[in-house]
Amino acid sequence: MNALADRLKQVQDSIAAACQRAGRSEKSVQMVVVTKTAPLEAIQEVIRLGCTELGENRMQHLKQVSDDIDVFLKEHADDPAIPNAVHWHMIGHLQRNKVKPTLKICRMIHSVDTLRLAEEINTEAYKQGMRVDVLLQVNCSGEAQKYGVPVGAAIHLTEQMATMPHLRLIGLMTMAPLTLDKDRVRASFARAREVFEDIRAEKIVGAKFKHLSMGMSQDYEIAVEEGATLLRIGSALFA
Ligand SMILES: *Cc1c(COP(=O)(O)O)cnc(C)c1O
Repeated sequence: MNALADRLKQVQDSIAAACQRAGRSEKSVQMVVVTKTAPLEAIQEVIRLGCTELGENRMQHLKQVSDDIDVFLKEHADDPAIPNAVHWHMIGHLQRNKVKPTLKICRMIHSVDTLRLAEEINTEAYKQGMRVDVLLQVNCSGEAQKYGVPVGAAIHLTEQMATMPHLRLIGLMTMAPLTLDKDRVRASFARAREVFEDIRAEKIVGAKFKHLSMGMSQDYEIAVEEGATLLRIGSALFA
C-alpha cells in the first residue's frame, strides 16, 4: 500500500476502535476529508480509495479544486474503480459575499455562525431554487477569537433558522480549543453534545437535526467518544 492508503486505513481503524469504546455503530460516524492542503494527485487518490465527502475552508480554493475534480471525474466516468460523484462541504468561515458561489458547489455548510449569514444563505438558496443543509457553528471552547456563536445564543439562533424555508438545519459544528490538554478538548466536545441534545429535546427543528460535526486530525477519537457524527480530517491523511 502507498502512504496515503496506509494513513487512511489507520484513521479508519482508529475511528472504528473509538466507536467500539463508545458503544457506537461505525455507521453513525462519517469522515469528511479536508483537502485544503493536499495536492490534486492526492485528492484524486483519496477519491479512488472511496472517500466522497470532501471539505474545504476557503471559497477560492474550493472553486478551483472542485473544478479540477469535476474534470477528473468526467475523464474517468467509465472507470468502475472511481466513484461517479463527490460531495463538497464548506467547513470554514464564510463571508456573505461568497454565499452564492458556495451554494453552487456545496452539499453542506458547516460554519453558519451569525443570523445575517443564515439569512443570506436562505435568500440565495431561494434564488437558486434549492434547500441547503447547514450546521450552526457553536463556540464551546470559550476562546474569544474563534468563530461560532456563544453557547448561550445557540438555542435562540436555531429557533430563528428553523423559520427559514430554504435552510435545512441538520445539526451543530464546533472546534476544540487550541490546546494539547485533552481534558479541555473533551470538555468542549461534551459541551457541544449537551447543547445538541438540548436543542433536540426542545424539538425546534425535528428529527433531521442529527449531526454533530466535531473532531479533526488531533482530536477525532475524543470527538467520536463524545458523540460526533461528522469528522473533518485533513493532515492525518495528507501529512
Ligand atoms: C483544516 C480544518 C480541518 C482539518 O484539520 P486537520 O487538523 O488538518 O485535520 C477541520 N475543520 C476546519 C474548520 C478546518 O479549517
